[in-house]
Amino acid sequence: MKEIILFGSTGSVGRSVLDIVRRYPASFRVKGLTGHGNTELLLAQAEEFRPEFLAITDENKYGQIKRGLPDGMRVLSGEAGLEEMASKDASLIFMAISGTASLKPLVVSLKKGNRVALASKEPVVSAGNLIKSLEKQYGASIIPVDSEHSAAMQCLSGRAPSDVRALYLTGSGGALKDRNKEDFEKLTVEEVLDHPTWDMGPKITVDSATLMNKGLEVIEARWLFDIEPEKIKVVIHPEAVVHSLAEFRDGTVTASLFMPDMRFPVLKALSYPEIVESDLPRVDLARLKGLSFEEPDTSRFPALDLAYEALKEGGTLPAVLNGANEKAVKLFLDNRIDFTDITRSVEKIMREHKSVKDPDLEDILQAEKWGETRVLEMFGIKK
Ligand code: MG
Repeated sequence: MKEIILFGSTGSVGRSVLDIVRRYPASFRVKGLTGHGNTELLLAQAEEFRPEFLAITDENKYGQIKRGLPDGMRVLSGEAGLEEMASKDASLIFMAISGTASLKPLVVSLKKGNRVALASKEPVVSAGNLIKSLEKQYGASIIPVDSEHSAAMQCLSGRAPSDVRALYLTGSGGALKDRNKEDFEKLTVEEVLDHPTWDMGPKITVDSATLMNKGLEVIEARWLFDIEPEKIKVVIHPEAVVHSLAEFRDGTVTASLFMPDMRFPVLKALSYPEIVESDLPRVDLARLKGLSFEEPDTSRFPALDLAYEALKEGGTLPAVLNGANEKAVKLFLDNRIDFTDITRSVEKIMREHKSVKDPDLEDILQAEKWGETRVLEMFGIKK
């Protein structure tokens, strides 16, 4: 029986995790859950899964949660509550908080030497080098949950990074794959959130539309698999069935296929290193009309190049890109800036930044914050 502490249980990935836990009651038990704003769902999850600990990041909602809970469950709150939750022992810490908020609890979990299933890509983008060295130093281990990285783990299994000639991450192309650049200025939040293949949270869906999501994933792959940036490639693959491909130096290619459903990477991470029986929808090869691949169009989606640039420069630049992008996406979702302002502001802020070499955690958090603040200043918005 594996005991799981799940961060971000009310989000899209968190709900997939609980769906898998529900299907394998003899294999997994929920020890802790954390949520942010959706108290109703968090309370329902607590009622169903009966964890020992519950954490709510929004401190104003502490009272509401405490009153609604069955007796004997401990409630934690705020940033300190998340860090306390991260310091508890469990067979697996499942990190599914969207955005940079997962960085601090992730660091705490790694320092405890835990096994961490990592769905949140932002901390690896900002602090990849640091996270990998903590993993090594404290004997922790990270299992990727991002679908492309889960697939890449399977493709690369048992192979040395030096045997890899190229690692391909696929992207479906997002909601704007077939739209003209001229239309981008006037796009509404609803149009951008209308993703053709994946059902995901709002932040990652906007990132998919700008292709920043693929950029963040390139940086993520660089650290998770220790592959040089120039070997990591992005291909657009609208069918979203092949999630990653590894080309080896002998010219052979291995691919990983599964239907576009986050429960596959979630199940893989929960059951790792074992492979378990599942009744999830199968890839029916004869019914696939075809699999197509094309180069990403970086003239319409310049965010991808910005991510490569941040990765090449290193230091605190990826953290600035991450912080600025997260804030700009939030402003767009709140209808306060245009869609095209997102990538434009990230680029401008990256150009302003003087990167700090070999940053520690404090430097990284500061750089993220600085990126966020510069976005607000740029649009004359008070916090
Ligand atoms: Mg992904």
